[in-house]
Amino acid sequence: GAMRHLPYFCRGEVVKGFGRGSKELGIPTANFSEQVVESFPSDISTGIYYGWACVGNGDVHKMVLSIGWNPFYKNIKKSVETHIIHTFKEDFYGEILSIVITGYIRPEKNFDSL
Ligand code: ADP
Ligand code: MG
Repeated sequence: GAMRHLPYFCRGEVVKGFGRGSKELGIPTANFSEQVVESFPSDISTGIYYGWACVGNGDVHKMVLSIGWNPFYKNIKKSVETHIIHTFKEDFYGEILSIVITGYIRPEKNFDSL
């Protein structure tokens, strides 16, 4: 489930998510397109992972990644969202995000509040 596909390399365009307020929480998450998400192994565990990421030809930074069920699609489609541990001057929608997932932190969790 969680570890057997690691390290996992992935590269794709950053698309608009569903405005679930990641930025309000101070943890914007760069979303991959549905097509990229569908290219992931179908049996990869949902949850929180970590690894490395870069935007375009930029520097490589640490990242944390969520693979989770997407409420927008009534939880039948996964979403893959990367929070890069770096302060960017501007948003980077439309840019190519490259990631390597190196480890697993925990399964998905529900919270009572924002
Ligand atoms: P959306 O619902 O469109 O994904 P978010 O609130 O999750 O909106 O914000 C994600 C966007 O924020 C990314 O697509 C990217 O353009 C921008 N962004 C800025 N800084 C970061 C960062 N450190 N990590 C991830 N995304 C970031
Ligand atoms: Mg997002």
